[in-house]
Amino acid sequence: MTFVDVPESTPPSTPLSGSDSNQWGYDLYPERRQSRTQKSVADILLGKSSRGELRKIDCERSVYKCIKKSPLVRLMVGALKASGCPIDIRRHISCEDCAPNVSGGYDPVLNQVIVCHNTAYKENIVQGVLTHEMIHMFDYCKNNLDFRNIDHLACTEIRAANLAHCSFASAWMNGDTSIFNFKETHQNCVKTKALSSVMAVRNITKLQAIDAIERVFTRCYNDLEPIGRRIRRNSLDMEKAFEDGVYLGYDDGL
Ligand SMILES: [Zn+2]
Repeated sequence: MTFVDVPESTPPSTPLSGSDSNQWGYDLYPERRQSRTQKSVADILLGKSSRGELRKIDCERSVYKCIKKSPLVRLMVGALKASGCPIDIRRHISCEDCAPNVSGGYDPVLNQVIVCHNTAYKENIVQGVLTHEMIHMFDYCKNNLDFRNIDHLACTEIRAANLAHCSFASAWMNGDTSIFNFKETHQNCVKTKALSSVMAVRNITKLQAIDAIERVFTRCYNDLEPIGRRIRRNSLDMEKAFEDGVYLGYDDGL
């Protein structure tokens, strides 16, 4: 499982019940439900639980390292704090077991970033998940984001794909990007990633999702706050963005 096409979820501000809950991605996060999975005797004998627990520890270790060391994550932590939404690592970030097709999520009800320890426990993937989900947290905190509004959802997914996923995680992994098609390739990456994210958590047609993305694309693609630039791989952009953030008063308190 890679971070390339892994969607994440944004549950609604008011939890739904029954089959409706499937429309909002709750089924992707079993630990978000009231009943935490109990260990069965079979699980214990097969060592299933302990594997999960070890991955959770790896995940938490990676989260801690990113919070301390990753310029992007530190920038996001500082920007959230400057916007009146400070992050407490124990309260606002949770490593959990999720559906196998997701790597992270943002739960606005509890204001928590979810990192899926069964799919994202390595440091570089956790960095991508944290940055992506903290963009949603930032939009929810600062931009009055309403996750039930499909245009709002499309906008925050465009911003997260633009500033996190397509800018440093994987846009160039398959490698034919040249200086001549950089812009188009990057925009296509953002549209594709945003589409998969929106489709993963809303029960709408592909056409409806594409329409929403196209409606808000130009405005949301050009909104680079709070990172301020698109990060290129193998560059010093991350460090530069972090330094700029310090000038803007984004103090991560570390
Ligand atoms: Zn997202």
